[in-house]
Amino acid sequence: VGAVALSSDVTLRVESDDVRYLEPEGEIRATYRHASSHVRVGEGADAGAPSVVRVSTTEKVFEFRTKSKPRKLGLMQVGWGGNNGSTVTAAVLANRSGTTWATRTGTQTPNFFGTLTQASTMRVGSDDKGRDVFAPMSAFVPLVEPTQIVLSGWDISGLNLKDAMLRAQVLEPDLIRQLAPEAEKMVPLRAAYDESFIAQNQKVRADNIMESPAYTKRQMLEQLRADIREFKQANALEFVVVVWTANSERYSEVRPELNGCADTLLASIEKNDAEVSPSTLYAVASILEGCPYINGSPQNTFVPGCLELAEQHGVLICGDDFKSGQTKMKSVLCDYLIGCGIKIKTMVTYNHLGNNDMYQLTDGVMWKPKSASKSRVIEDVVQSNGQLYSQPGEMPDHVVVVKYVEFLGDSKRDVSEYTSEGFMNGHYTSIIHNSCLDSILCAPLILDLAILAELFDRVRVRPCARDAPESSEFVKMHPILSVLSFYMKIPLVRPEEPIINSLNRQKSCLENMIRALVGLPPENHLLLDTKIA
Ligand code: NAD
Repeated sequence: VGAVALSSDVTLRVESDDVRYLEPEGEIRATYRHASSHVRVGEGADAGAPSVVRVSTTEKVFEFRTKSKPRKLGLMQVGWGGNNGSTVTAAVLANRSGTTWATRTGTQTPNFFGTLTQASTMRVGSDDKGRDVFAPMSAFVPLVEPTQIVLSGWDISGLNLKDAMLRAQVLEPDLIRQLAPEAEKMVPLRAAYDESFIAQNQKVRADNIMESPAYTKRQMLEQLRADIREFKQANALEFVVVVWTANSERYSEVRPELNGCADTLLASIEKNDAEVSPSTLYAVASILEGCPYINGSPQNTFVPGCLELAEQHGVLICGDDFKSGQTKMKSVLCDYLIGCGIKIKTMVTYNHLGNNDMYQLTDGVMWKPKSASKSRVIEDVVQSNGQLYSQPGEMPDHVVVVKYVEFLGDSKRDVSEYTSEGFMNGHYTSIIHNSCLDSILCAPLILDLAILAELFDRVRVRPCARDAPESSEFVKMHPILSVLSFYMKIPLVRPEEPIINSLNRQKSCLENMIRALVGLPPENHLLLDTKIA
């Protein structure tokens, strides 16, 4: 029967009593019926004692209002001059100008492969010939065009973006040469810096900083806020998203009197407390300026006070630590093995590469958050299968090793060995070797995150009649944007929300959320019509 792939200039119009496209307000109004099942797990049921567990079905109705016009978007990257920051920049410039470049194997053209928003599709439904029809995400709800994003950011290194691209050794020299006239004019803003939070080996590149005692933390915060405002004004931007793609910091302490609530955190900044990290300063600055903040590294930027501040200001935040190559592979493989009833006993994974980020992780203190982040990425998949993992707390033996190998630069090598028990305890071993430039995996995530944060900031929602009084107000989505968990190693969630690591579940969640915005039911892959009669 085949499939139909709609092109990227298509716009879908959902025809349903539940959906209205309002002109000239430019708003999509959709009523969405959310069906789910509620389980009452009694005493002992999860410990294997025989019992009957009651399950009931529920339906809640929500009304979504989504402004259909994307805004003129600015993206500020913290760590703009790094490998990721400069690769994002090159991709936007090259795609915008249609620059092609020569390599020894032929001419290359720019693309946005690796992004969900530009290079993947979602199933829309079936056509009258029974064929699956697929369309890009932007056909469902209009999204910012990545080539239209205006770029800026901060870096402790003052190199302009052309030189930063050359330093990164990610892209071809012929491309950088052509982008140079524009990239040379892009110079990172001075960074909030505290040498106690990143490795000492980064000090040599710190020539573009606000540092104490010349700057207090409050002054740094004020300057970061002013930077955001000036960027917005100078480029007539309607919206700005800030993404941390700077080096992993060490953990900062969490204490009630230091950062336990928004007030204490702001007071600690005022008092110039040494334990307020630069990343928390950037996050606070973004929140106070109404800009979503995305944390691409594993450190605990979002201390309790920072979370409360985001809630108070209704600003979207998302974290922690980009989920790029090995972790994605890991969560897919665990889904496959554990989902097929095969018991993973050991997962041993090695990375080696030689980029600046890995160099800084050679410092033991900085490695701690990264190690914790890399180790926890399969917990939900393991916990979901009590047939295989029946003992309390039982987990596969999970070993994570990383090594700095200078010669390899950004080219990450990842070797992973999974040893499992299959039918009648027969052993099953898989060894996977991946090799890819680290920033080629990560840069697309940064663009997607900025584009999707802009989308979800346009969404308003309210529960409908049966569940809440008619009068209930439309509100923004909860500030903790766990719908973007797909992009994060350790998804930041609300205390009452489970952390989902399974890549399949994460992707379904994002896609079904986008379908809900236009009143479409969640994708269930049943194709039931074809299976009956
Ligand atoms: P990088 O070292 O090339 O770039 C980081 C940049 O941040 C550097 O230019 C550095 O000068 C700058 N910087 C450091 N502290 C700063 C501060 N306080 N303010 C502003 N700038 C600061 O690293 P990268 O390879 O681009 O990775 C960036 C981050 O993304 C790292 O924290 C890494 O852990 C995270 N990450 C990357 C990947 C991936 O590349 N596949 C995956 C997951 C997470």
